[in-house]
Amino acid sequence: MGSGQVTDSSAPFDFRGKHVAVAGLGVSGVPAAKVLHGLGARVTVVNDGDDERARTQAAELETLGVTVRLGDGATLPEGTELIVTAPGWKPDKPLFTAAHEAGVPVWGDVELAWRLRDRDGRKAAPWLAVTGTNGKTTTVQMLASILRAAGLRTAAVGNIGVSLLDAVTGDEEYDVLAVELSSYQLHWAPSPRAHSAAVLNLAPDHLDWHGSMEAYAADKGRIYEGNRVACVYNVADKATEDLVRAADVEEGCRAVGFTLGSPAPSQLGVVEGLLVDRAFVEDRHRNAQELAEVSDVNPPAPHNIANALAAAALARSFGVSAAAVRDGLRAFTPDAHRIAHVADVDGVAYVDDSKATNTHATEASLAAYESIVWIAGGLAKGATFDELVAGAAKRLRGAVLIGADRALIREALARHAPEVPVVDLDRTDTGAMLQAVQEAQRLARPGDTVLLAPACASMDMFTNYNKRGDAFAQAVRELGA
Ligand code: ADP
Repeated sequence: MGSGQVTDSSAPFDFRGKHVAVAGLGVSGVPAAKVLHGLGARVTVVNDGDDERARTQAAELETLGVTVRLGDGATLPEGTELIVTAPGWKPDKPLFTAAHEAGVPVWGDVELAWRLRDRDGRKAAPWLAVTGTNGKTTTVQMLASILRAAGLRTAAVGNIGVSLLDAVTGDEEYDVLAVELSSYQLHWAPSPRAHSAAVLNLAPDHLDWHGSMEAYAADKGRIYEGNRVACVYNVADKATEDLVRAADVEEGCRAVGFTLGSPAPSQLGVVEGLLVDRAFVEDRHRNAQELAEVSDVNPPAPHNIANALAAAALARSFGVSAAAVRDGLRAFTPDAHRIAHVADVDGVAYVDDSKATNTHATEASLAAYESIVWIAGGLAKGATFDELVAGAAKRLRGAVLIGADRALIREALARHAPEVPVVDLDRTDTGAMLQAVQEAQRLARPGDTVLLAPACASMDMFTNYNKRGDAFAQAVRELGA
């Protein structure tokens, strides 16, 4: 971890009269165009699509005086001095090649929010930022809950529903923001400097977008750049610690680890059922501070305890008390479809982790239960399942496979868990979920958990993972009826 001169590119940026191209309508593009227009910029929105929704959005913006070009997101508008892009736009798009050749900078929504955060003489709220392959939303919500318990004015923002731009340009004032950042957002955000930040874990994901694992990791690692107080990393995931080492931070900023084991000095960890802080205490070589009980974490699955420790570390780096960490964790309820306990039927627990759309999340989910009937399958997005299945084989009572790419999981089960009974459902209609749950019920014994943790995306059978989880819950209710 290097430290020293960190340039803070937060100098007020004068948008008046500037030609700004906003790339992409939609959740980030429309608000960005409005804000920029309001600041006096000459805004042109470029959008690949030309469908009805885009036309409605375009019509609204045009009445404000914003120019919108539908059906052509590739050409750089004449005279563009800055591009503000939707985070999902791939860096190899022709628009960005053209921008690069013309020396035009490209910002994402997060960069824009950072540059606008202290307008109007208001004191800008510091950011406590979180990224990682899995657990971001949960951790940021836990963090916001802890900060609220400490009496701070805060919100969970970023890649999570409430946009950062809204938070920094709206009327509400905050003491601190709990910010979720995706790897895409970080890619397009060279300037933000967090008070403290955490990378929860790092597993291959979105590699087609980033181009390579190295590029993906480097974009995630951006979150540590210029941190002021703490870079929080996962002791069990060395790649996160490597990112801390590579980061250039402010003088005095510390590396703080979190671990499910007993914490060394400068770490948070677990000792005899307690979450314990050995980083933000006086004389950390001799002292430790009890923060909460493991049972205060909801649900107390190992990966979720890790999330709680990361949230606690960020909060503690902001001076939050141990009691507020405990109260905030107790007050937190996870979003739907994340290890949600649906019901117990005949002594079998039914758990919906439809949000486990990749193997890394599913691995964590499977590790949380002793004896599992696993419902899995969907769109594999190029994933392989050997490692996942081999690691969980001992805990599988059975498996029920659904969806387009189920054969990949079936083959992995045949290779690494040949004794585990497998039901392969050869249908992708919406009724398949009820049958899957009925098959799982047949395989389960009292004390088992039927776990929907698909390790795959849902779009082959459902609109999204919410709908898939809802179908599961509905099917479980029908079993109990
Ligand atoms: P994200 O915002 O990063 O997608 P979520 O909190 O929404 O993360 O959780 C996504 C999925 O990842 C859920 O299925 C959850 O069970 C799993 N998960 C949550 N935390 C972790 C973690 N620390 N490690 C691995 N998997 C996790």
